[in-house]
Amino acid sequence: MRKKYYNMVEDMKGKIRVFCRIRPLNRTEASSGSGPVVDCLDEYTVAVETTRGLREFQFDKVFSKLSSQEEVFQDTSRLIQSAIDGFNVCIFAYGQTGSGKTFTMIGDKDLKNPGIMPRAFQKIFDIIQENMSKFDIKVSAYMLELYNDRLLDLFVSPAEAFSKKIEIKKDKKGLVFAQGAETKGAASAEELFALFEHGCANRHIAATKMNLESSRSHLIIGITIESTNLTNGSITFGKLSLVDLAGSERAAKTGAKDDQLKEANSINKSLSALGDVIFALSTEQAHVPYRNNKLTQLMQDSLGGNAKTLMFVNISPSDCNTEETLTSLAYATRVKAITNNAQRNWESKEIAHLKEIILKLKSGQPMEEEV
Ligand code: ADP
Ligand code: MG
Repeated sequence: MRKKYYNMVEDMKGKIRVFCRIRPLNRTEASSGSGPVVDCLDEYTVAVETTRGLREFQFDKVFSKLSSQEEVFQDTSRLIQSAIDGFNVCIFAYGQTGSGKTFTMIGDKDLKNPGIMPRAFQKIFDIIQENMSKFDIKVSAYMLELYNDRLLDLFVSPAEAFSKKIEIKKDKKGLVFAQGAETKGAASAEELFALFEHGCANRHIAATKMNLESSRSHLIIGITIESTNLTNGSITFGKLSLVDLAGSERAAKTGAKDDQLKEANSINKSLSALGDVIFALSTEQAHVPYRNNKLTQLMQDSLGGNAKTLMFVNISPSDCNTEETLTSLAYATRVKAITNNAQRNWESKEIAHLKEIILKLKSGQPMEEEV
C-alpha cells in the first residue's frame, strides 16, 4: 500500500521535475564585497535581483543555501525505489562551473558532506536488504566520461580508454548500453562505491593527461538493477542514471580560443541537445530529437517514455554571476515551465495530503483506503 501511495505522489509531480539549488556565497565572494542577489522566496520560488528589477522563477522545489545534503536527498530518494521497481530514472545537475553541481551529485572533496551518488548507492542496497526474502536483486554499473563528443570508459586505465571505441546501442529490452565499455557488478554499497572511486581516479589521471578540467566534461554513471521475483520468477529491469554535467557557462565570457573554443562548442551543443529533448518531452511532441548528440543518445532510455527525470539547476547567489544565473534559470524554465500557480498549489496540497497518508502508514496507524 505504501508503494502505491509513493507512486501516486511521484505521478502527481510529473515525470520531469526540476529542482533549483542555490549555493552559499563563498569566502572569496564574501570578502570581495560581492553581495548575494538570489533569494529563495518559498519552497517553490527563487528570485533574482537584476538591473531591470526582481525576476521570479518557479520550480518543483527550491533549495536555499541552508538546505543540507540530507534534505536534498530526501526528496530524491524515492526515485531510487522507482529504479528498483523497474523504472528508468535519471538524475542530473545543470549549471555554470562553480555553482554546486558536483557538490550536489557527489559531495565535497573529502566526502564529509556526501551528495546524491554515494547516498543513492547506500539506498539501493538498503532497499535490497529489506526485500531479500521476496526478490533477488542484481546490481551492475558502467561509468563514462563524455568529452569533445568522445566517450571514455572510466572503469579501465586511461591508456586503454583512449584506444577503445565506445558505441551507444540498445539491447532487446530497450535499455541503452555502451558497447565496448566495462560493466561491473556490485554486491554491496561499499563495492559500488569502490567502483565509483576507481572511476573517479581514472578520470583524474585522464584529465591530467589531456590538461582538462573535470568541469569541462560530462560524467555519466549508469546503474542497472535486475530484480527477480522469488515467488513467480518474473524479472524486471530498472536503471538509474546519475549525471554530473559539464559547466554551462558561455565560451565568450571565459575568452576561450582554439582548443578551448572547440571544447566549449561541444559542451554547448550537448547541453542544447539535452534541453531540446526535455522540452520536446515536456510539451509532448511527436518527435524527440535524441539522436542529435551522444549525451542524449546515452540518456535516451532515462528520458521520456516511462522514465522519471529529475533535473537540478544549480545556481550561484553572487552578483558577479547574475548573467549566468539568469541563463541557467531560463534553460531550466524552458525545460519545465510552471506558469499556473493555482494548479501548482493544488498539486502541492494533494501531495502534502498523500505524504501525510504515507507517514501514517509508516507509523502503523490504521488507514481507510480513500482514492
Ligand atoms: P560545480 O561542480 O558546479 O563546478 P562545485 O560543486 O565544485 O561546482 O562547487 C564549487 C564549490 O562550492 C565547491 O568548493 C563546493 O564544495 C562548494 N559548494 C557548492 N555548493 C555548496 C553548498 N550547497 N554548500 C556548501 N558548499 C557548496
Ligand atoms: Mg563540477
